[in-house]
Amino acid sequence: MKRAVIIGTGVGGAAMAALLTVKGYEVTVLERNEYAGGRAAGYERDGFVCDMGVHYSGQGENGPHGEVARKVGANLTFLRPDPFVRFMKDDRWCYLPVQFINPVTVVQLARVVKFKLRNYPQCGLAILKLAGARTIKDVEPYDEMTLKDFLHSYTDDEELHRVFDVFCGLLMVMPYDEASAGEFMWCFSKWAQMKSSSYPKGGFRSISLSFLEAAGRHGTTVRYGESVREIRVAGGRAVGVETDKDFYPADVVVSNAGIKRTVAIAGAKNFPEEYVERVGRLKDSKGAVTLKYALDYRPSEVPILFHYSKKADFSKNLREMLEGKIPEDPALFMPSPTVCDPGLAPPGKHLLMVTTIVPEDLSASPLTERFLDQIEKKMNNLFPGLEEHTIWKHRTNLDWVNQMAGGRGTASVIGLAQSADQVGRNKPSPRTPVQGLYLVGCDAGGRGIGTEQASDSALNTAEMIAADIPPY
Ligand SMILES: Cc1cc2nc3c(=O)[nH]c(=O)nc-3n(C[C@H](O)[C@H](O)[C@H](O)COP(=O)(O)OP(=O)(O)OC[C@H]3O[C@@H](n4cnc5c(N)ncnc54)[C@H](O)[C@@H]3O)c2cc1C
Repeated sequence: MKRAVIIGTGVGGAAMAALLTVKGYEVTVLERNEYAGGRAAGYERDGFVCDMGVHYSGQGENGPHGEVARKVGANLTFLRPDPFVRFMKDDRWCYLPVQFINPVTVVQLARVVKFKLRNYPQCGLAILKLAGARTIKDVEPYDEMTLKDFLHSYTDDEELHRVFDVFCGLLMVMPYDEASAGEFMWCFSKWAQMKSSSYPKGGFRSISLSFLEAAGRHGTTVRYGESVREIRVAGGRAVGVETDKDFYPADVVVSNAGIKRTVAIAGAKNFPEEYVERVGRLKDSKGAVTLKYALDYRPSEVPILFHYSKKADFSKNLREMLEGKIPEDPALFMPSPTVCDPGLAPPGKHLLMVTTIVPEDLSASPLTERFLDQIEKKMNNLFPGLEEHTIWKHRTNLDWVNQMAGGRGTASVIGLAQSADQVGRNKPSPRTPVQGLYLVGCDAGGRGIGTEQASDSALNTAEMIAADIPPY
C-alpha cells in the first residue's frame, strides 16, 4: 500500500485526503493550524458559529463538493431557501433570479440595472453566451481574453459593464478588466444553470470537516498544529515530509499550501530554473476585509444580499487604495448564513456578514481599517437599527486571511488569480517537476468559484495521482 502525505486541510487538502483514502492509499494529513478548513474554516463565539471568511456556494450538492461527498461517503448537506439572492442597486432593493440562461430573467436584470433600451439585444446576447457554457470546450476559446474585452465585443453599455464587474468580484474576487472571460463563463454558467446556490449545514467549515471525517472512517490520520518545514527530495523524487515534530516518509506528497510555498519548502534547487521563475511571476487573487455582526434580530429574509451603486468600479477602487485613498461607495457582499441554517446561532439570534475587495498586499492593512470604518457607516444606513441590535461585531483585516491560508504572506481570498494569463492551459499543472509531488487547491488543477475550485482540483488531481502512482 502506497503512503500519501497531504499538507494542509483547506477544502482541497481535505477532499484529497478522503479521495486518496477511499482509493486505497495510506494517508496522513498535516495541518499547521489547530483547526481544519484553511480559508474556509470557522470559529465559535458566544454560541454563534461563524465562517472565518464570508461564503456561499454557487452549485452546492450539484457541483464538485457534492461529487466529492458522494464519492467518499461524507455527511455534507447544502441548504437552499428560495428566494436566495436579493440585491440593491443605488439604494433600491430587489429580488434577483439568477437563472440567466432564461431570456425572461435576462430582461428582468436589464430592467433592474437599467441597460440602455437600444442596447437590450446585444446585452442579452452577451449574457446568454456567458450563462450558456456547458463544457470546458465552450469556455476554452475565451480563457485568454479579459471579461471586459469579451463584453466590449458585444456592447459598451455602461450598466452591463458595471454589473458584470460586480458579479466578477463576487465569483472570482478580481476586477473584470483582469479576470479571464473563459473562467468567468465557467463560474457564471454553473451559477446560472444549476439553480443550486446554497450554503452548507453547519457553516463552511463543515465541507472540510465532513471530508476529513469520511477520510478518518477509512483510516486517515490527521495531525493538527504540525507545520511542514521541508518536503524532502532525493534523486528528483519526493520521499517524505519533515515537520517541527517528526519525519513522515511518503511515496506521494500532495501540497495544499499553495504553489509558491510548496516550491519554497521543497527547495527551489530541486526544480528547473524556468519553473521557479514562472512560479515567482504568478499573481494571487485580490484580498478582502470583513465585518461580522451577531444580532438579536433577523436582518434579512433571504440569505444572500449584495449592494452596488453607480460608483462601483473594482479596478478604480483597487488603484485608489494603492494610492492611499478610500473608495467612496464600494460594492458589498452581505450574506446572512443563519437564514439558511438557524443552528449557527442561539434561538432567535442571527449572523450578518459583509465583505468587499481590497488589495491582497498585506501592507495595505492600516488603510483598510479606515475603509472598514466607512463600511460600518454604510451598513448602518442599509440596515436601520443595526447598531442597537448588535450583540457583538468582529472585523477582520488582511492578516486574518493570510493566517487562515497558512501564512503565505498574502491576503489573497481565492488563491491564484483567475486572470486571463493564468487559467486553462496557462494554469500550473498539479503535477510538479519533482516526481511524486503534487499540488491541490486553488493554485492548480481546477476551475470555478473559490471552494468549488478546490474540490474540483482534488477530484482531477486524485485521478492523476492514481494513474501515475497506483495505490498498490
Ligand atoms: C473573505 C473570504 C470570502 C470568500 N468567499 C467565498 C465564497 O463565497 N465562496 C467560495 O466558494 N469561496 C470563497 N472564498 C474562497 C475560499 O475560501 C478559498 O478559495 C478556498 O477555501 C481555498 O481552498 P484551498 O484548498 O486552496 O486551501 P486553503 O484554504 O488555502 O488552505 C490551505 C491549508 O494549508 C495549510 N498549510 C499551509 N502551509 C502549511 C504548512 N507548511 N504545513 C502544514 N499546513 C500548511 C493552511 O494552514 C491551510 O489550512 C472566500 C475566502 C475568503 C477569505
